[in-house]
Amino acid sequence: MPISIRACICFSALFVNTLHANELKQITLQASWFEQFQFAGYYMAQEKGFYNEVGLALTIKPFRIEIQNDIAQLVTDGKVDFAVGKENLILEQAQHKKIIALYALFQSSPLAIFSTKTSHINTFKDFLGKRLMTTQADAQQVSLKSMLSSHHVQQSDLTYLPHTHDIKDLINNKTDLISGYVSKTPHDLEVLGVPFNTFSPKDYGFDLYSDFLYTSENFMANNKLQAEAFRSASLKGWQYAFDNIVETVDIIFEKYNEQNISKSALLFEAKALKKLAYLNTPILGVLDENKLKKSFDLYKVLGVDKGSIDFSQFIYDETNPFLFLTSQEKSYLKNKQKITICIDPNWLPYDGFDSTGEHIGLHTEFLDIFRKRLPIPLETVRTESWTESLFFAKQRKCDLLSLARVTEERKEFLNFTSTYLTFTRVLVTKPDLPFVNNFNLLINKKIGMVQGYAEQDMIKNTYPNIIVVDVKSIKDGLDKVAKGELYGFIDALDSVGYFLQDDFLGQLKVSGKFDQKTELGLGVRNDHPLLLSIFNKLIDNLSEKSIKTITEKNASIQYIDKFNYQLLWWLLFIVLAIIAAFIYRQSLLKDLNNKLNERVAEKTKALLELNESLELKIKQRTEQIEHSKRLLQDVAYRDNLTGVFNRHYLIEKSICFFKQADTLNQPLSLLIIDIDYFKKVNDAHGHIVGDKVLIHFVNNIRKTLRTDDLLVRYGGEEFILLLPKEDLQQSLIVAEKLRQYIELHPYQLDKENNLINITISVGVGQYETGDSLEQFIGRADSALYTAKDKGRNQVQTITKK
Ligand code: GH3
Ligand code: MG
Ligand code: MG
Repeated sequence: MPISIRACICFSALFVNTLHANELKQITLQASWFEQFQFAGYYMAQEKGFYNEVGLALTIKPFRIEIQNDIAQLVTDGKVDFAVGKENLILEQAQHKKIIALYALFQSSPLAIFSTKTSHINTFKDFLGKRLMTTQADAQQVSLKSMLSSHHVQQSDLTYLPHTHDIKDLINNKTDLISGYVSKTPHDLEVLGVPFNTFSPKDYGFDLYSDFLYTSENFMANNKLQAEAFRSASLKGWQYAFDNIVETVDIIFEKYNEQNISKSALLFEAKALKKLAYLNTPILGVLDENKLKKSFDLYKVLGVDKGSIDFSQFIYDETNPFLFLTSQEKSYLKNKQKITICIDPNWLPYDGFDSTGEHIGLHTEFLDIFRKRLPIPLETVRTESWTESLFFAKQRKCDLLSLARVTEERKEFLNFTSTYLTFTRVLVTKPDLPFVNNFNLLINKKIGMVQGYAEQDMIKNTYPNIIVVDVKSIKDGLDKVAKGELYGFIDALDSVGYFLQDDFLGQLKVSGKFDQKTELGLGVRNDHPLLLSIFNKLIDNLSEKSIKTITEKNASIQYIDKFNYQLLWWLLFIVLAIIAAFIYRQSLLKDLNNKLNERVAEKTKALLELNESLELKIKQRTEQIEHSKRLLQDVAYRDNLTGVFNRHYLIEKSICFFKQADTLNQPLSLLIIDIDYFKKVNDAHGHIVGDKVLIHFVNNIRKTLRTDDLLVRYGGEEFILLLPKEDLQQSLIVAEKLRQYIELHPYQLDKENNLINITISVGVGQYETGDSLEQFIGRADSALYTAKDKGRNQVQTITKK
């Protein structure tokens, strides 16, 4: 069954836009300095048409010295849509500017301090009493401040001079020190043949992000797709600029050169900035929350800022819809407390209830995604029929109506979101009726449709010859067709297929398919307009991955549907007919018995062969279905990075383990394993190496596993090893062996045999009858806490008092 998702449609819509230049959305970017390679990515995205491709027309607003301290305000006031921010952008956020950082281009700031060799300022000790020429903005940057302060150079030890941006002032001793970019000042000095010293914060451990691309919370909330498109087109521009430095320099030299920079200076800048952009990362634009937090802590240490920041509201993350909600929408949800949804209780595989009243069906998977992203619960309201659900929606007993089509009548009490589920409608009849290509030929035929379905109007209008008859549910409709009370029944292919498989095998067939596809979204109570915009954002935000997972799961349903029941039915029919003919002939023409016997034997053989091949096909199909089910389970229950089971799996399976322990009276224990100081590994070597270390670590644990043991990635760098049949004493031995093994097998970083040593702390706990999973884990977790507390790299357990 085809599922099309609104998010995809929106994206392709953006591409279609490029065909009509007049439909391009105008956006603005404020440059944070004069034209130079520092903005090459934006120039190249512009030159190569990357913005136009995604439906945007960019104007870059030129920089002026007067605005240098007001840029964040211009963004929050909506005077410009985007801007490039320096490393202290985070302070603007701390001052409640409501901005969102889309990426950080430079993984370390280019800002540094320079002196000439002839000045004899060679170490920080020589700084005392000297003059530093710097801009107000540079002076505020935490990297410079931290570097100076960590070398005991206080603000009062220096005389600050305003920046003239004339390098000759350094050479002619009008200042002793000057602030500048490592991508520019060294080149200026080299050209003039002046030997110099560089004091770069990066070399002293202060590598801070710089050149953030940012926008306002408000722009993001109202133009999320454009913001995302601008972000990715700009990164594409940067990638192009760094991959094609010579071409880019030529273009900047010709077209973006208000400072008259020489080609060699632009080339120097390009190479230096490329290094900073790819420092410790193969991907452009990485913005790690931990690193950012660290730089904010530095500001705090230096006494610059005492505020606090909600980083989840500052760093762009495409899966966090809260970045895209307006403050009105957020406060609406806060007051709302819970959202309710009414569904069609008889519309499997899309929506339905199981025997315990639990909401089941394909659609629940979409709702679960929404649930994860909503700060308040989304609850399904129990109803008996679609008609009752419609009534409840009207009565405001539910806020949402699941998978509802737009009709004039419903518009009186509902708004409708974008659509995200598409299905095909089919006609079902008895198997002996002909296939239908033209539905207009169904003159005066009684065709059933579920009462209250909006589709009824469409069918009545398009095919006036058909007599549409209300039925209570799909089952009711199919029953009536099977009994001959109705000629046919119309509904979604998958829902009909769901019933045909189980209840009407051989009695009914799909005998026609409608060309128009039906697209469905949610109905939303129209007296709460904010709810509509919130759900539209959630729908626009459905990720490719989640769509894929749900579609794949659905593919298993498709296999079942594609199985040709008509063929089976016909075969059975033929077998019966032949047997009947056989008996008939036998009784009438006894003398032809022998001959006939021969022929029947032949036919039977052929049929048997046919049946065998049919059985084989069924077997193959079943295997395919099993295979796709297994794939799905892997997606749901395995951790992407390490391939071991995830927390969901543990939660699901824990009951079985507990039952086994209880009924067989066997012990059951678990180890909770946490890597020591793992953050340091990430900080020192980057996230990608961190990932590799995790994989290496898991492979090592696997080597020590026995068949019954269950290894689970419980979160981050925390793992649980469940040991059935082991008591506390034995588990402590297993844990200690594991601890030693991990300590003795470090990760090999490179060919030079540089190693990353890792150690683990382990908490051990034994299951006690009646424990919940939380209690069981909780005991081991307290032991882990003790292990960390006592200095790490050790095994602990909690002994009962
Ligand atoms: P300790 O447990 O000894 O107290 O120190 P720690 O440094 O391990 O502390 P904490 O548990 O706070 O930090 C865990 C770190 O693990 C933080 C996070 O960056 C990192 N981490 C979690 N998941 C992953 C992952 O999938 N890949 C990488 N590279 N790092 C991860
Ligand atoms: Mg840890
Ligand atoms: Mg941890």
